[in-house]
Amino acid sequence: MKTVTMKFGGTSVGSPEAISNLVDIVKAEHDSGSRVIVVVSAMSGVTDSLLSAAKAAAVGNKWGYLSTSEKLRDRHEDTLNILMPPGRVREKTISQIKSLLDEFTEICHAVSILGEETPRIADAIVSYGERMSARVVAAVLKSKGIESTAFDAGDFLVTDDHFQSAIPVWEETQRRVNEKLIPAIMQGITPVITGFIGATSTGAITTLGRGGSDYSGAIFAAATDSAELVIWTDVDGVMTTDPRIDRRARVLPYVSYQEVGELAFYGAKVLHPKTVQPVLDKGIPIRVRNTFNPTYAGTLIGEMGEPSATIIKAVTSIRNISLLTVSGKGMIGVPGIAGRTFLATANAGASILMISQSSSEQSFCFLVADATAESVKHSIETHLHEEIARRDIDRVDVRDDVVIITAVGAGMAGTPGVAGRVFSVMGNSGINVLSIAQGSSECSISFVVAESDLEKAVIKLHDLALESVPN
Ligand code: ASP
Ligand code: MG
Repeated sequence: MKTVTMKFGGTSVGSPEAISNLVDIVKAEHDSGSRVIVVVSAMSGVTDSLLSAAKAAAVGNKWGYLSTSEKLRDRHEDTLNILMPPGRVREKTISQIKSLLDEFTEICHAVSILGEETPRIADAIVSYGERMSARVVAAVLKSKGIESTAFDAGDFLVTDDHFQSAIPVWEETQRRVNEKLIPAIMQGITPVITGFIGATSTGAITTLGRGGSDYSGAIFAAATDSAELVIWTDVDGVMTTDPRIDRRARVLPYVSYQEVGELAFYGAKVLHPKTVQPVLDKGIPIRVRNTFNPTYAGTLIGEMGEPSATIIKAVTSIRNISLLTVSGKGMIGVPGIAGRTFLATANAGASILMISQSSSEQSFCFLVADATAESVKHSIETHLHEEIARRDIDRVDVRDDVVIITAVGAGMAGTPGVAGRVFSVMGNSGINVLSIAQGSSECSISFVVAESDLEKAVIKLHDLALESVPN
């Protein structure tokens, strides 16, 4: 008997209609003889509202978090009332939702008294979204005849204490999965596990970062040796580009782990970038499917780049980034300036999305999120003040009106001329390319253009992708 892990995102549990589709999907898989593990996000919008409630609490806005609590109670209760007949299970679940929200308001009270919200407290507060949705989904499944139990992921998923982007502790997680989760599945229970959250070994609640329930799905799929991980979402699959930029965007029937990793890193919103990590080693395929179009096969993500003429498969873009350029004639042949610049960047808490250096070594540039750009500049100026005083470095410039465009496709590796084609398309379209980088995996090419050129660059490059994707 095979086990299938199914992760349902926020919109896929966000309304009674969505949850009833979920029930049909899980039931069909279950009835075909699989064991199913369900991993859920919070209902759509709930994570954002919990985080704003925490902010409201920190500034003493009591009404802010109390009204959030009211709205969340109504939404979860209404969902249960619509989907389930009256009775013991429904009443019990409604009272569980109520006590979770009572805990939530108590924490908010404490925050409002202290006037401070730490990352640890934010994780505790935001965890209630998934904890409520898991209980609702398990109760509804039960009422439809599927033996189901809600679990808080902290029971199994042990992480470090890096609150808000915690890292799993694999051995301990595997041990707990073997001890507590596998036996439940063996007994015929369909577990409904909270996505996004985990706990430290001492029990403090952590989260894996925004959008992290995809990653949770992958962690549980790997730890239970699932035959497949299905990411149920609100689009038909991984697309050739963002359909809001180019309406000709199509669903890709197949992409490799590596390609989807690049796509996620470079701005496609399909999957949390860490999702492939846990399933990759075990070769567990991922399927991205649409809860609202469940007969559609979606996108299969697996081991190999498919042997086809497809060179550029998909085009993505990232907005809200800044280009930092460090320049100076005194940098030529001086080791360590780039290294210390990146260290200064890390100290400012920023991660680097792309780097490039010209061979003349008179400047190099890199990209960070807009929100961190000024503090990165400041940190570089502090760490390298001696070089700046000596004029080895002339300037640290920040440009925030830029975007990264990325073309992805495993077929690029070893195919000469792809970069040439990409940049002649840009040149012929009158688009100025500010900086270029290609990963050594040769699975993607990224470059920077002015924000005002974004649409044009994506559409022109997407022409190349469409040449080879079946209609
Ligand atoms: N609920 C969390 C978020 O909105 C995690 C997720 O949905 O993946 O970020
Ligand atoms: Mg998501």
